[in-house]
Amino acid sequence: MSGALATPLPPNSTIGILGGGQLGRMSALAAAELGYRCHVYAPDADSPGMQVAAARTVADYEDPEALAAFAAAVDVVTFEFENVPARTLEILAPRVPCRPGRKALAVCQDRLQEKAFLERAGVPVAPWRAVHDLAGLEAAMAEIGLPAVLKTTRLGYDGRGQAVLRRPEEAAEAFARLEPRPLILEAFVPFTQEISAVAARGLDGSVAVYDAVENRHSHHILDLSFAPARVPEAVAGQARRHVAEVAAALELVGVLAVEFFLLPDGRLLGNEIAPRPHNSGHWTMDACQAGQFHQHIRAVAGMPLGSAERHSDAVMRNLIGPEGMARLPALLPQPDVSVHLYGKQAARAGRKMGHANCLLPRGSLSAQDEGKLLARL
Ligand code: AMP
Repeated sequence: MSGALATPLPPNSTIGILGGGQLGRMSALAAAELGYRCHVYAPDADSPGMQVAAARTVADYEDPEALAAFAAAVDVVTFEFENVPARTLEILAPRVPCRPGRKALAVCQDRLQEKAFLERAGVPVAPWRAVHDLAGLEAAMAEIGLPAVLKTTRLGYDGRGQAVLRRPEEAAEAFARLEPRPLILEAFVPFTQEISAVAARGLDGSVAVYDAVENRHSHHILDLSFAPARVPEAVAGQARRHVAEVAAALELVGVLAVEFFLLPDGRLLGNEIAPRPHNSGHWTMDACQAGQFHQHIRAVAGMPLGSAERHSDAVMRNLIGPEGMARLPALLPQPDVSVHLYGKQAARAGRKMGHANCLLPRGSLSAQDEGKLLARL
């Protein structure tokens, strides 16, 4: 890692965060620890990020006047989500440094661009085709084969906006249901594990990569991350190299995550890039020297990056909906568990309310009895 930049933002500077969710909240908390103020811009007044901000703008993401005033009030802007409207960036980017910049956001908000970009960056992906109409879908199914996964290319998350096609007769209904178009058809990947890795890239181009983790989902929402991933060292190293290459190729300033499918033969296929702190990186808050939110703020503020070294193994469990919150009384007294809550009022089903990080001595995760471990999380 290279040394300090000539001009990190001075203490008390203001970092603008577009988006008021938990990622913005945890970024703002990290920023406060590093001596910065955060100005959160979001449409909801009582969002998790707003609750911990030094300044707030409650406005639509495409409100030109509110955006211009926001740009004038902050020293740098970052984003807690990638689906930033193009119009928003057109207004902000000429007025204030935006980190990450247009390139990273544009690539990551469109699955077609994202897949093509991953391939160019040397990350293998499952076979895919752009689908503009039903005839195109039929042609793509003939080329890729079934089963396959039909997805929207924009605005999909947590498994929304996708359909698994197992038989040709299912194509017309899925095509009619999924919007906006174009869509993307991907080969169904018979993965053995889903893994991801997070990297930070500083303004000076230095990169700090966290250990790859193993992710498990429940109802298409991340439930658990195991850090480090219990995979051969060659696989973990490959994931880390890929993430560092993607961060450099995107000219990213900030944090990103890449999600991979692990095939039975040990190969990794890239699935998605998130150009921001990621749920599968929440374990780093407690198990690493500098967690992902600190790294994000360091990068955005032009500070040198901190160390991404893992001092402990960890299991992260998301607290989702009322069932997640019902675990709190059992989690809070455990000495090796840290609980992070997001300040959301209503614990609706499927809503991420917080997460818990259980720390284990470094190197001991693989030897743990997983059943016993998960029973107390
Ligand atoms: P995504 O929105 O692309 O992250 O997909 C959500 C989840 O759907 C992934 O975490 C996988 O479990 C599953 N999935 C997505 N794409 C594929 C695929 N091509 N093959 C098999 N499973 C997939």
